[in-house]
Amino acid sequence: MARLYNFSAGPAALPESVLKRAAEEMLDYDGCGMSVMEMSHRSLQFNEIIDGAQHGLRELMHIPENYRILFLQGGASSQFAMVPLNLMKRSGKADYINSGYWSQKAIDEAKRYISVNVAASSENVKFNRIPGIPRSSLDPDAGYVHITTNNTIYGTAYHEIPETGGVPLVADMSSNIIGQYYDVKKFGIIYAGAQKNIGPAGLTVVIIRDDLVGFAGDITPAMFNYKKHVEKDSLYNTPPTFAIYIAKLVFEWLIERGGVAGIEQVNREKARLIYDCIDNSALYKSPVVAEDRSIMTIPFMLPTEGLNAKFVKEAGSIGLSGLKGHRAVGGMRASIYNAMPINGVKQLVDFMKKFERDNR
Ligand SMILES: *Cc1c(COP(=O)(O)O)cnc(C)c1O
Repeated sequence: MARLYNFSAGPAALPESVLKRAAEEMLDYDGCGMSVMEMSHRSLQFNEIIDGAQHGLRELMHIPENYRILFLQGGASSQFAMVPLNLMKRSGKADYINSGYWSQKAIDEAKRYISVNVAASSENVKFNRIPGIPRSSLDPDAGYVHITTNNTIYGTAYHEIPETGGVPLVADMSSNIIGQYYDVKKFGIIYAGAQKNIGPAGLTVVIIRDDLVGFAGDITPAMFNYKKHVEKDSLYNTPPTFAIYIAKLVFEWLIERGGVAGIEQVNREKARLIYDCIDNSALYKSPVVAEDRSIMTIPFMLPTEGLNAKFVKEAGSIGLSGLKGHRAVGGMRASIYNAMPINGVKQLVDFMKKFERDNR
């Protein structure tokens, strides 16, 4: 069976070589006579796997020694609650930047536990840009400032990280972690669901600076407490073992390909091909202002709903899958995470051009 080019927003494409390796090792991992899925999370073999995954991510993102890496469950959506619950005792308030759907969800959840100030929002322009943050709207006594680095639904991204003075910056990086380079030192906490750029759904990565551990409110459930997971090095309970193993393989795959700096160049080139096609077309439109466009998730639309539907259907019939846009934005969305090869993007662009010629 032929593999499709999968442009889905997530769960998303994984590197083929990683899937093949996992298939080869499925029944017998490294001569130990069982699958990683069947192995004790306290075994020597699994210890090597989780250590390898940690080292891989540390190397890829240049994570300094004073940051812990946690492999948790519950998705980025659980982090919407875990972040405020774990920083509650620093100060009962935080600043949030609203750049769209997922930021809004983070805000709604945080409000259940702390007092939230929405310091900037691009809602009035339908989230077609990253909002500027007026200095005066940031509260110097806030426990943290929260941003969403890549807005998976609206197709915007931070290409520069805002200055927050001494207030720690917390970032939801679910859809551009290890796809675009950010200086980890600028952040207090980074979190991401794995299913976009890292590995299988079920794994959630949290990167936290040491000095931010230990401020959980008393109501915080043990499973939601970063400190418990830090103390046990992500083995407080049974972690998502197989997903961690796949993530380790993905990290190794990326290191071999030049790391985040290497893949970011490829990602920029992939994105440029699609944006050039949109900007040179009389038919396609990008809803996003040029300077804030994402290099991972690219929404675009045709003039009518009928044409959008026709595009998605015809693209699907030639093996370009997962292009239907999110209902909040409509049109199409091409998610071109690390594992999407440039050839997939070239095929998409060829199809876009052909579709335009046929439907002028
Ligand atoms: C997909 C996504 C989420 C939701 O992730 P889950 O792992 O499904 O909870 C949150 N934030 C961003 C930016 C996302 O892209």
